[in-house]
Amino acid sequence: MNPVRSLILAAAGSDAVRRVVSTAPVTRRVARRFVAGETLAEALDRTGDLVEHGLRVTLGHLGGAAADRRTAERTVQTHLALLDQLHDSGLAGDAEVSLRLSAVGQALDERLALDSATRICAAAEQGGTTVTLDMEDHTTTDSTLRVLAELHRAWPSTGVALQARLRRTPADCRALAGHRVRLCKGAYAEPASVAFTDPHEVDLNYVRCANALLAGPGYPMFATHDPRLIGIVAERARWHDRAPEGFEFQLLLGARPAEQTRLAAEGHVVRVYAPHGEQWYGYLTRRLAERPADAALFLRSLVSRS
Ligand SMILES: Cc1cc2nc3c(=O)[nH]c(=O)nc-3n(C[C@H](O)[C@H](O)[C@H](O)COP(=O)(O)OP(=O)(O)OC[C@H]3O[C@@H](n4cnc5c(N)ncnc54)[C@H](O)[C@@H]3O)c2cc1C
Repeated sequence: MNPVRSLILAAAGSDAVRRVVSTAPVTRRVARRFVAGETLAEALDRTGDLVEHGLRVTLGHLGGAAADRRTAERTVQTHLALLDQLHDSGLAGDAEVSLRLSAVGQALDERLALDSATRICAAAEQGGTTVTLDMEDHTTTDSTLRVLAELHRAWPSTGVALQARLRRTPADCRALAGHRVRLCKGAYAEPASVAFTDPHEVDLNYVRCANALLAGPGYPMFATHDPRLIGIVAERARWHDRAPEGFEFQLLLGARPAEQTRLAAEGHVVRVYAPHGEQWYGYLTRRLAERPADAALFLRSLVSRS
């Protein structure tokens, strides 16, 4: 493993390092690049800025899996408050919500996750926006798709993320090609029994899945920073006669910002995944660990300015 990556991940696990690093002014500045805000008000302000720059947004609340019902309920309340404020701020037409089912009780009881997601989807519809279910590791895929199928009965516009890393995903894409589907590579280390482990195979599967989605009547959302895949998807969309508003690209907040602006200027719909919430530190360290160049820059600023 790259030494900077190991250092950053080790730092993420240490409480002492966390206390020092998370309060350093430079950390706050770097966090602002990747995290929309700690509070709902900050996240909405940032959403407004992105929308003013011609981008759409999906807001993802940061935090781990709910270990009990009380925590799941608190997360539901946070989403309901966010949806209320999105509506009141007039941003609901350009910003939606991403939901991790684990945060609202999936590991405790699938029924609880469905009830929670149902309340959130109902609030989203009332507020004039939509919800997309994030996808977590492969052990949750069937459960997430079962919950999605229930949600589709009342809210067919509910989206879901599918992961090209998984061997099953072309079939899932064909089955869901009439809906809103976010296609990503997949963020989880998965066993070879269910997933491609060679990055080239993952990319080939991404293109296979993209073709399946573009051939269907739904709304595909291509979540990747990979310049090669973005180029291929744009070309395939033309083959399939997709109008510019018939699909979108999605990138993470702070990742390839110039590319986000370039794609939007070319007429593509571009949506930025904007994470927010108090638990931003772990997310920031994971982002930095993924990009050793950013991490090295951050470490140098931390040492020289703090
Ligand atoms: C909007 C969005 C939503 C997502 N939702 C989910 C989800 O629900 N479930 C899930 O498992 N995963 C999700 N992911 C994560 C995704 O699965 C990948 O782990 C992540 O996007 C990295 O893959 P990549 O396609 O960007 O390409 P990679 O294979 O990581 O990188 C390919 C190339 O892209 C460029 N690149 C990649 N990252 C960056 C960067 N940060 N800055 C500059 N260049 C970069 C580099 O040129 C790199 O060589 C999401 C990602 C995005 C963007």
